[in-house]
Amino acid sequence: MKSIHQHNKDLTYPVQYVKGIGPKRAEALANHNIKTVRDLIYYFPYDYIDLSKVGKIVELRKHADSGEWVTVIGTIRTFDLIGRPPRQRLSVILEDESGTLQLVFFQSVQYFKKAFEVGEIIAASGKVTIFNRHPQIVHPSIDRLSPADDEEGGLQGFLHTRGIVPKYGSSGELQSVNLNIKGFRRIMKATLNEFLQFAEEPLPSSIIDKYKYLPIKQALSSIHFPETQQLLDEARLRLKFDELFSMQLLLALRRQSVKVELPGITFDVKSSLARQLVNSLPFKLTKAQVKVIKEITDDLKSGKPMNRLLQGDVGSGKTIVALIAMLIGIDNGYQTALMAPTEILAEQHFKTLANFLKDLNVNVRLLIGGQGVRIRDDVLEDIRSGAANIVVGTHALIQEHVMFKNLGLVIIDEQHRFGVAQRVALREKGIESLSGGPHPHILVMTATPIPRTLSLTVYGDLDVSTINELPAHRIPIKTILNFESQISSVYRFIREQVNAGRQVYIVYPLVEESEKLDLKAATESYEKLKSEVFTDYRVGLIHGRMSSDEKDNIMTDFEQKKIDILVSTTVIEVGIDVPNASVMVVEHAERLGLSQLHQLRGRVGRGAEQSYCILIAPGWMGRKIKVGSTIPTLDGAEDKKRIAERRLRTMLETLDGFKIAEIDLELRGPGDYFGTRQSGLPALRLANLLTDGDILLSARHEAFQLIDTDPHLRLPEHIVLRKSFDEWMKDALGLLHGG
Ligand code: ADP
Ligand code: MG
Repeated sequence: MKSIHQHNKDLTYPVQYVKGIGPKRAEALANHNIKTVRDLIYYFPYDYIDLSKVGKIVELRKHADSGEWVTVIGTIRTFDLIGRPPRQRLSVILEDESGTLQLVFFQSVQYFKKAFEVGEIIAASGKVTIFNRHPQIVHPSIDRLSPADDEEGGLQGFLHTRGIVPKYGSSGELQSVNLNIKGFRRIMKATLNEFLQFAEEPLPSSIIDKYKYLPIKQALSSIHFPETQQLLDEARLRLKFDELFSMQLLLALRRQSVKVELPGITFDVKSSLARQLVNSLPFKLTKAQVKVIKEITDDLKSGKPMNRLLQGDVGSGKTIVALIAMLIGIDNGYQTALMAPTEILAEQHFKTLANFLKDLNVNVRLLIGGQGVRIRDDVLEDIRSGAANIVVGTHALIQEHVMFKNLGLVIIDEQHRFGVAQRVALREKGIESLSGGPHPHILVMTATPIPRTLSLTVYGDLDVSTINELPAHRIPIKTILNFESQISSVYRFIREQVNAGRQVYIVYPLVEESEKLDLKAATESYEKLKSEVFTDYRVGLIHGRMSSDEKDNIMTDFEQKKIDILVSTTVIEVGIDVPNASVMVVEHAERLGLSQLHQLRGRVGRGAEQSYCILIAPGWMGRKIKVGSTIPTLDGAEDKKRIAERRLRTMLETLDGFKIAEIDLELRGPGDYFGTRQSGLPALRLANLLTDGDILLSARHEAFQLIDTDPHLRLPEHIVLRKSFDEWMKDALGLLHGG
């Protein structure tokens, strides 16, 4: 480590040398990615206690059963374990100068018992109820206030601080060096006093003026030590903007580098192949399909590489749109590629395309693992010579140094399987080196609609086209929830459907943690269904561990109606298109995420008959999941069960993929939606994509406009912005890799 004399006093100053921190605390902070003064100042409180609202215990009765959230501060007097497991509870008596209050814990009893000591001073917040004529708070939220080495005089000292007190995320390690509520507050205060003067304003004044944002110094000071609630709100708004603005700058820069710096291929979009295809279709394109085709062809003829996301619910007809784009490419003398996330799906696409193209002079080839050497060499040769017009495959298409003669358009059927990170890698490494020449057009297709705020971040460097209607005359799928005890009536229903000529999927979810066991369960169920339940019917099994030949045979049999009932693991989640299949039974539906359930349901409802999605849930879910009943709140103990209930209820209530995506986002939280790591984008600290949509839209607008005028952030007036953007990237990548 450099000596203290070499460090300028600015935000890059190591925290270790800040007064009151020292080497031990610095080490603990470093483990939380806080190394410089800047890191510390940007370690924002996750919550606050408003001391002006702290009440006396004696006054709590007034608030009883009001549902209000109240806070009291007091000393722990006693602990008592009451009852015995599993009905055991912990009762803690808290005392202030006005009276006593009982805090009750039903869960994590042993943990809470160990976590606190008699004599300790805490702030407890929650809703007050009256029990046995005494006020109590069940499962309060708790903050410790009295570190052992407290120089501010314990409770008294704390109460004498006024206003809104920040709470910082802490951990065992930080606690052990007394960086708890008070300790953090002290070092933060010292740091701001000494260093805030060095914070430079990154935002152009035009933006600050336009939105009337707080200047950076005031925002940073107020987010830690707000004088009023209003200043706190303004500080949070300003800093959320900064965060989203940085994120959007990143996306604008990425987009800029693709759009402006790479030469594209100009396609003539009048294509006779495309016209012939459209004329041969047994249906008319929907208005939405026509609209997105126009958006795509505008890109194809622009001379810039297309970089577009095509989103549309399952069954909205994306394949045909992609095919039309590919035919345009072929008519212009280029090869095209279609990448699918799984081999099954690649084969399915291959067959679908071949079928659409059977009367056209187009050479479609399939390249996947597990093909025989002879076929494979033949395909590779066709790709090299240019004889292959369309190549369908998995991501192996770009990994295995496949040499195209002249690749002009790549369609990526993403379906959430390829993360953004892979897509960027693909663009940066794979495709460019593949084609050598001008940059091919890229169209990414995704089946699960994404809430707008998310698509503006996760897919924020792409242009977006949306197919927002399903082909007409589709009969809405009926969704039914059954419990395991009702399984025999489900079997009866399946028989009726098969007797009427339909086909059925029965899906067993594979959960990663218990994949082997689940696979065993699926296989055993298949044996049982085949030999005991559906003895008169043709039952097939397909799962991801089969070789691609096996899978292929099974799928072909199913398509050709040689199988009535297909038992499957979730491998069929994506893309399979068998219009005669009209029933989707999902076993253990409570284990699957909403978008997975929606994807599975989308496998039926493609033909002319009424289709059904039957979700099977275990008895412990209870029978109370009904459409329209009150939605349980998601705080409290039974989160997991309630979230599962909410998912199933949502499936019963709507077929709308966008609505489902929004609820999915809400239930999983934006971080988890794609998995931050998978998304390849930095995590957000303050902003919430679900609730900060307005700020996001302004941040996006300003960032893209700014990059339009200063494509590399090099103008002198953007020096501070550039610096702060680089810092944000460094920090964000740290968060990304750190956890
Ligand atoms: P997805 O968007 O889920 O990939 P597909 O492209 O597989 O949807 O289309 C689903 C089904 O709807 C296919 O059988 C396809 O041929 C059919 N289809 C596509 N467009 C139309 C349309 N305009 N009218 C009727 N059927 C259509
Ligand atoms: Mg599809």
